[in-house]
Amino acid sequence: MSHVLHRAARAKPPTAVRAQGLVIEDKEGRRYLDASGGAAVSCLGHGHPRVVEAVRHQAGTLAFAHTGFFTSEPAEQLADLLIGQAPAGIDQVYFTCGGSESVEAALKLARQYFVETGQPQRRHFIARRQSYHGNTLGALAVGGNMWRREPYAPLLMEAHHVAPCFAYRFKEEAESEEAYGARLADELEAKIRELGPETVAAFVAETVVGATAGAVPPVAGYFRRVREVCDRHGVLLILDEVMSGMGRTGTLHACEQEGIAPDIMTIAKGLGAGYQPIGAVLFSRRIMEALLAGSGAFMHGHTYNGHPVACAAGVAVLETLREENLLENVRAMGELMQSRLDARLGQNPHVGDIRGRGLFRAVELVADRESKACFDPALKLNARIKAEAMQRGLMVYPMGGTVDGRQGDHVLLAPPFIVGPSDVETIVERLGEAVEAALASVQR
Ligand code: PMP
Repeated sequence: MSHVLHRAARAKPPTAVRAQGLVIEDKEGRRYLDASGGAAVSCLGHGHPRVVEAVRHQAGTLAFAHTGFFTSEPAEQLADLLIGQAPAGIDQVYFTCGGSESVEAALKLARQYFVETGQPQRRHFIARRQSYHGNTLGALAVGGNMWRREPYAPLLMEAHHVAPCFAYRFKEEAESEEAYGARLADELEAKIRELGPETVAAFVAETVVGATAGAVPPVAGYFRRVREVCDRHGVLLILDEVMSGMGRTGTLHACEQEGIAPDIMTIAKGLGAGYQPIGAVLFSRRIMEALLAGSGAFMHGHTYNGHPVACAAGVAVLETLREENLLENVRAMGELMQSRLDARLGQNPHVGDIRGRGLFRAVELVADRESKACFDPALKLNARIKAEAMQRGLMVYPMGGTVDGRQGDHVLLAPPFIVGPSDVETIVERLGEAVEAALASVQR
């Protein structure tokens, strides 16, 4: 038996031994086309020489210098690159080692901002029922993924949840997108009023939802309304772009497409592109000024914050995105992928929705298209699709998230930004076969 505790504790997964471009190879020589970037991580594909060299060089020059003593050139350079392309008003960076750590830091930063500015009564966080913000206790508390929360519920800090923005499931047929977005923003405002506006610290949301329901973009105007509501009540807006950021949806930050800027934003995954574990919290000057005028320090920190090798990888990733013009490819291949998925799976009576932005796409499976009824969760349809895809040499990211009591089966596609048209064809064809085989296995 393996001494490693694997995700599925009873089953040892294949042993990955090498990877290049879009392909990961296991110990038995089987090859898998990485159509999910792991979990939307490997945005440059595997073995990119520029990033590999940046990591090698930095490890040999300065592998580690504790941030209690030093800053480093890669950390400064990466912060400059990030701020040069950040949403309006954002001009500070706090480095972490991943997504959950970024969310924890964002929550504490919001709280400290209010302590520093003489509003210590602001302690409530509001998030959405359809959301995933990470597995550490603070991130899990704001997250709205019920099955992940349940075993730990007695340990979680208080957090409040409002409705998700999920048009396929929850927009009324007669309702326009604008009216739906406005209704949701009104619900947020009502929740702020119910709690007492002077007690609310922040609203936390994924710009495009990832791990609970698969690439759910917001309806037009939703985030503009949310921004107005937050501003009206002095509530900070925290956007979690750990999965949807760093170019995944076709712009560097997903919120660019919403025409708004958050006060605090979390990023990770694509920032290190899998070459190094790194995340970051980007935040506004206003928050920085409050820290400077107040205690002068963010009361937080981990040993590996701002790790020079991880920051060097991040610099190489951002430079590669720009120099290889990869966001343009994300937009073009994203459109192609949507149209190929529509053509291959759009007529399947068990495909309810095919959606997403850029190279962040998902297929939602339903037992009945008319009623949008879900399959019995016990059938684990999404896990069957993953298994069928793996047998066909394809990695896709399955999810069985619960939203407002409804269990859904979703498959997320988030391939590296270097995919070309023939890769898209292969991905869609193998996924089509895997979906059909999995559906046949549950209908037998
Ligand atoms: N936030 C979002 C939106 C995520 O998708 C994830 C990871 N799936 C996290 C936070 C947590 O990131 P990590 O797994 O790197 O801790």
